[in-house]
Amino acid sequence: MSAGQFSQSGDGFGILRQFARRERRAMERCELCSLELRPDHPHLIELAQRRLVCTCEACAILFSGQGVKFKRAPRRVSVLPDFTLSDAEWDSLMVPINMAFFFKNSLENRMVAMYPSPAGAMESLLSLESWNDIAARNLALNEMEPDVEALLANRLGYSRGHAAPEYYLLPIDECYKLVGLIRMYWKGLSGGTEVWQELGQFFTDLKNRAIAIDGAAAVEKGSHA
Ligand SMILES: [Zn+2]
Ligand SMILES: [Zn+2]
Repeated sequence: MSAGQFSQSGDGFGILRQFARRERRAMERCELCSLELRPDHPHLIELAQRRLVCTCEACAILFSGQGVKFKRAPRRVSVLPDFTLSDAEWDSLMVPINMAFFFKNSLENRMVAMYPSPAGAMESLLSLESWNDIAARNLALNEMEPDVEALLANRLGYSRGHAAPEYYLLPIDECYKLVGLIRMYWKGLSGGTEVWQELGQFFTDLKNRAIAIDGAAAVEKGSHA
């Protein structure tokens, strides 16, 4: 595996450390109107910079309704128990951390594969052809909203031989949060205990929020009809 195949992302993930810290502070303000925010406030994505913007409810509605500059991150989290990705497909992504997320960048009209690292989010090369193969088998991916929703693959337990891989459809701000956790808590070569506790908590919370979607149902019903 050569380091040259990865490139540091320039699309807004560089500010994640600050973001993760800021989210922990008690009093936060809407970045568009300065109103005080509750911890579970909405987020907008500023598409050109791929920047996450903390907002109040009123600004989230107002600005996401105005043209194409901002899109609102949705809330829904789905777990995809029938999702399939072969080990060979995963290996071809050359993701070193057994976690990655995928989203469509609508401005560039391409699928983007990224993985968290202690240095922030890194982009992995994903060919359109391999994504199309994956999407053709996993129809739930057609539901994914460009720019603001992502597929998150968690193969941490699988890589250690004690769990099946987990796949989630989730809001992109949750991916930002995951990247922020790893940047903030990763220590040394193996991460240290704190980061693994934080990751365990992140995935427990995600699982508790998630609704299961039978991704292959449409295909099976069609073929047996
Ligand atoms: Zn506001
Ligand atoms: Zn926020």
